[in-house]
Amino acid sequence: NQQIVLASRPQGEATAANFRLVEAPLPALAEGQVLVRHHYLSLDPYMRGRMNDSKSYAAPQPLDEVMIGGTVGEVVDSRHPGYAAGDAVVGMGGWQLYSVVDGAAAGMLRKVDTRLPLSAYLGAVGMPGVTAWYGLVRIIAPQAGKTVVVSAASGAVGSVVGQLAKARGCRVVGYAGGAAKCAYVVDELGFDACIDYREHADARSLARALRDAAPDGVDGCFENVGGAVMDATMLRMNAFGRIALCGMIAGYDGQPIPMSWPQTILQSRLTLQGFIVSEHMGDWPEALRELAAGVAGGTIRYRESVAEGLAAAPEAFLGMLKGRNFGKQLVKLI
Ligand code: NDP
Repeated sequence: NQQIVLASRPQGEATAANFRLVEAPLPALAEGQVLVRHHYLSLDPYMRGRMNDSKSYAAPQPLDEVMIGGTVGEVVDSRHPGYAAGDAVVGMGGWQLYSVVDGAAAGMLRKVDTRLPLSAYLGAVGMPGVTAWYGLVRIIAPQAGKTVVVSAASGAVGSVVGQLAKARGCRVVGYAGGAAKCAYVVDELGFDACIDYREHADARSLARALRDAAPDGVDGCFENVGGAVMDATMLRMNAFGRIALCGMIAGYDGQPIPMSWPQTILQSRLTLQGFIVSEHMGDWPEALRELAAGVAGGTIRYRESVAEGLAAAPEAFLGMLKGRNFGKQLVKLI
């Protein structure tokens, strides 16, 4: 079995030297265990936080152990009554080609319908999709005719947020890095407008662009980025607006993030709620039903960046933190 372990913790920016590729024998299955061959590994921004040894909502990734990560694949051997060879399953198999899942944890392996592409279960019909759904539906609670703004709009989470909000009759404005991503967000995902944040020097310039894109102000903000992008949205929030604080990727690699908005929360009587999607398992079935139906029916579209082979995972991961991905970042393992 090929695996990637965390070799060292980043000092500032993460680098490829923080990871190590190793070979390990596959253990024989014990009673109650399942052997899964991974087809795709998901690379997600939260992994960067786990690489640090700091206080967070989740424990740090231990050194010299297989990097945590979502996977989709196929059961190749099973000594568990609930699973049989050939079952397609989503789980937390980690950065490796195969995983052995224990009986107790086998409930963590979700069997999936192979009528959708397997990779969708790591994106629009998986954790990122549910994140989009939860923040939009449960926190922003959008109403038809209102304006919702989404940052990292072409990405795994942001792309779904915008499409779900359009389906609920909102005006939707995105931010993305570069003309190609912005064109995709408007032309293919159906957002009303998208701002290329790289073309603006600061939050004031961004806020002017947002005033043109969202002339009635902003009622709902789905925040994935933080920094100047978030500052700009905050400058345009309407009274009693709602903010789902999902991520602040602009600061994950140790960059300082400006924050000029706490005053706006008071002045505009805003509601700001942070959330972690894995703490809301009760909402997953409803969210996944809407997401799977949307993908099957073509109303939720998505795009993927696929790196080839496990050895490519570290560079693909570091690239995603810099916006080199275009859509959901995956690694194809088979
Ligand atoms: P994406 O597919 O959106 O990939 C990350 C994107 O972030 C990049 O493509 C890049 O897009 C953008 N980005 C990176 N750095 C910056 C920067 N400095 N300024 C502006 N944009 C930047 O990733 P996900 O959809 O998986 O995740 C999006 C966000 O959602 C992250 O913040 C993540 O942590 C959060 N999240 C939170 C969860 C929760 O439970 N709270 C669960 C899942 C995700 P571009 O080129 O457009 O800048």
